[in-house]
Amino acid sequence: MQRPVLRHPRSSLAPFLSGAVYFFAASLTLLTSRFDGGLAFIWIANAFLLAELLTSRPSSWIATLAACAVASALATTLFGMGPVAAVPMAVINMVESLIVAILYRRLVPGRTVMGSMRSLAAFVFALGGVADIVTAAAAAAVAAKVAATPYTLAFVQWYSGHVLGGLTCTPILLMFLQGEVRRWMSETSPRLRLEAVGLLLLFAVLAWAVFYQSRYPLLFVPLLPIVVIAFRVGHLGAAMSVVILGIIGASATIAGVGPLSLIAGSTGERTQFFQLYLAFSFLMSMPIAAELNGRRRLFRLLQESETRYRLMAEHSGDVVFDLSVDGTIRYASAASEEQIGLAPELLVGRSAVTLVDPQDRPIVIAAHRRALERPGTVQTVEFRPALSAVGCDWCEMVIRAVLDERGLPTGVVSTIRDMTRHKARQQALQQVAAVDELTGADTRRAFLEKLETEMRRTRQGGRSCLLLLDLDHFKAINDRHGHGAGDRVLAAFVERLRCGLRGIDSIGRLGGEEFAVLLSDSDIRRASTLCERLRRAVAAEPMAIGDGEAITVTFSAGLVELEGDSASAALEAADKALYRAKHSGRNCLRLAA
Ligand code: GH3
Ligand code: MG
Ligand code: MG
Repeated sequence: MQRPVLRHPRSSLAPFLSGAVYFFAASLTLLTSRFDGGLAFIWIANAFLLAELLTSRPSSWIATLAACAVASALATTLFGMGPVAAVPMAVINMVESLIVAILYRRLVPGRTVMGSMRSLAAFVFALGGVADIVTAAAAAAVAAKVAATPYTLAFVQWYSGHVLGGLTCTPILLMFLQGEVRRWMSETSPRLRLEAVGLLLLFAVLAWAVFYQSRYPLLFVPLLPIVVIAFRVGHLGAAMSVVILGIIGASATIAGVGPLSLIAGSTGERTQFFQLYLAFSFLMSMPIAAELNGRRRLFRLLQESETRYRLMAEHSGDVVFDLSVDGTIRYASAASEEQIGLAPELLVGRSAVTLVDPQDRPIVIAAHRRALERPGTVQTVEFRPALSAVGCDWCEMVIRAVLDERGLPTGVVSTIRDMTRHKARQQALQQVAAVDELTGADTRRAFLEKLETEMRRTRQGGRSCLLLLDLDHFKAINDRHGHGAGDRVLAAFVERLRCGLRGIDSIGRLGGEEFAVLLSDSDIRRASTLCERLRRAVAAEPMAIGDGEAITVTFSAGLVELEGDSASAALEAADKALYRAKHSGRNCLRLAA
């Protein structure tokens, strides 16, 4: 929302200038629209003061109000109800402007003046709904006392004169003071400027033709062009046309010519009727202009953001899709040509899931569904593409729902990124973490994961065994032949185990010289036979430890059948069996109790 800049700092002469303008406006309306010795029928001086207050900082209000109060008192003394009424009228005038200024600032936090429906409504309410009701009550009391005007008549005179002065003149003055006229001039093309000036001139001629003839009541004629101007020129044009209508209509009515002279009544009554007419003209054109202005601003913002997002989508290396709720591609970014090998126009209308490898479609569809079910959340899914122009094996898709104004999803935006390299790196890292570097056996963590999976399988009916192995007197090997020799023994030991096992069995190094073997699809009998064979195979042939040397190595083992309890319980049972094997003289196998 546009936030007008308050004029500051102002010169020290500014209050005097404000006072002079106030005095001029007040004197003019007193001299031309005061018909029966009471109040003026038209009052535009406060419109100017209001525009001043609304566009300046509250710190400068006191000086402005003081200058205008003096001007008001002077004008009333010279051309109005005289010196007795001068001071109270000045105070009432200042209070009116002050009430509007304070209320308006409260109601319109951004202080956008007249550019929106809200600000317009706030202004009309502050002026006509509060300030002028309060001040008309006070001013009518003064007029009744000083000029003997009937109270109700004086109330209506003040109220209509002040509301009308404010409605007609404040908007256009605000636009001038806020530099909106200057901005409009610089932002509008010469053709549109010419059109605006032409329309306003035509309108002036038309208003003149309507108000400077007294034969027909043509008051409805200016209404159509006023609406046309509001549409074509915006709120500046609407405000300008109301001022033109006000000046021409008021001058004709006060001079006793025009359609209003057809009313059989006093000039005061005619002027009042004219005020009503002008108020309706204002209320007809300004809201349209404000609404249009709001839409124009929204449209410009939308256009800007559309351009920005299009630019981002078009220049992103990732593929950006806009998908409907059922997954049909509504928009595909330029990167699709490079990444998928299909130009955006070939993708639009196609179902996005056809771009996904059939194996991964269920998880992609599930992620799409989750994004729609949980608006505001971001769903991420990895999948293999069905098509790739750049040899992409893995993609990551980030999905987020797009909501309409009621908060219901109208589709999703998906960003697809090539993850092949990342995935390869991730797999390499996982591999490193899963395999023991020295022996090639599974690491403790990887082995325990396999054990957990196997436990779940056995719970559903499979029969498997866990074998725990520990090399005998290994410390002595290290001590005698060195740590390097010990390492070679560990690697050779695993190698020898592998030769004696089936492809489906897993070997894990649980720590140091302690190993575990998972014997899938084997009952305890079969497993113990296998284990015995292993034990003999290891003990039978010495292992090379370098420098042509070889040593004989043995191990002790504990065996347990997996029986649906936890992995840690199975490990503990196997460990106890192993302990017993050690205590039975080593190089033997014991079964868990
Ligand atoms: P036991 O028959 O009771 O199992 O006796 P042990 O000597 O094998 O048992 P102990 O647990 O006392 O010794 C294990 C030794 O294994 C101690 C440690 O220095 C050695 N060790 C552990 N990890 C490694 C390794 O990665 N390389 C080498 N070379 N030695 C290791
Ligand atoms: Mg040992
Ligand atoms: Mg040990």
